[in-house]
Amino acid sequence: MNPCALFTGSESNHLWLTEFERQFPQLNIQDWQNIVDTQTVEYGIVWQPSPAYFQRFPNLKAVFNLGAGVDAILSNPAVPEQVQIIRIEDGGMAQQMNEYFSYFLLHYYRDMDLYQQQQKQNHWQPHTVKSPNQFRVGILGLGQLGSQLAEHLRGYGFDIAGWSQSKKHLEGVTTYTGDDQLKNFLQRTNALCCLLPLTPATRGILNHQHLSQLPQGAVVINGARGGHLVATDLIDLLDSGHLRGAVLDAFEQEPLDPQHAFWQHPNILLTPHCAAQSEHHVCAQQIGSKLKAILSNQPITGLINRNTGY
Ligand code: NDP
Repeated sequence: MNPCALFTGSESNHLWLTEFERQFPQLNIQDWQNIVDTQTVEYGIVWQPSPAYFQRFPNLKAVFNLGAGVDAILSNPAVPEQVQIIRIEDGGMAQQMNEYFSYFLLHYYRDMDLYQQQQKQNHWQPHTVKSPNQFRVGILGLGQLGSQLAEHLRGYGFDIAGWSQSKKHLEGVTTYTGDDQLKNFLQRTNALCCLLPLTPATRGILNHQHLSQLPQGAVVINGARGGHLVATDLIDLLDSGHLRGAVLDAFEQEPLDPQHAFWQHPNILLTPHCAAQSEHHVCAQQIGSKLKAILSNQPITGLINRNTGY
């Protein structure tokens, strides 16, 4: 079997290699830098690969991305047109996303932001608990992660809606489709959750025009990519009081600049791109199974459409 070239660019390289070796020793997955006969490599497994990776393996047919979002690969000018890109589908991340969004949605639903402010002022003031069906959650993106989040959040009794490119039918979820219905979706949403892929169509979607269509006092939770958000627009809407708060996990530049205004903003909670992480054993199992399927000419799911970018 020709070698399959692994690139993670991080210390986790050996963890991935160990996991692939444990589950699929026959697939001959090797660190990309250790492969001598580079012309024989047809398949790769990557996370944020450098241009040098694609230059080193000119006969690549496909690469498996070690995450759900492929924006870092598609923005790499060295990726040849003919190389297929295959993404992780869930890979253990849906449950983590459910935990992440639930935690912060409950934070706002139960007024924990208000109680934090009151504590700083030694101020004792309980607030009336609203009925959960008055808390209108809107999920941008109803794919692998967004659809499972919608299903999970139904358990809290929130009023859930979702927005996607194509029409979806999810029990207990009001669904909106395409640009025409985005305004109606935003106008009914007081907790906006972003789980879109970063593509030319979604870059900058969390901008002044869209965020100002949310009702007064809405909150925004971005668990997708920093490129979805226009930072100055968010800060303007928080400072004007139109938005109540925001939770941000991903940023245009990571790590986030220590001088960035987000760090000290009183109405922003931020986390260091940790909302959901690929689980080694689950993702290795998924990728190894798909690679075996490709090698025996079986169909697979998770292929990226280069035209839409996801
Ligand atoms: P999917 O590709 O499965 O789902 C994407 C969803 O977005 C689909 O419902 C799709 O609609 C919708 N969508 C895409 N483009 C548009 C558009 N222009 N207008 C309306 N809807 C659109 O992705 P996943 O759910 O697996 O992941 C989503 C993103 O989450 C990833 O791309 C990644 O960036 C991010 N992520 C972040 C992590 C973190 O730790 N912060 C971890 C994991 C993922 P349709 O279904 O109709 O095609």
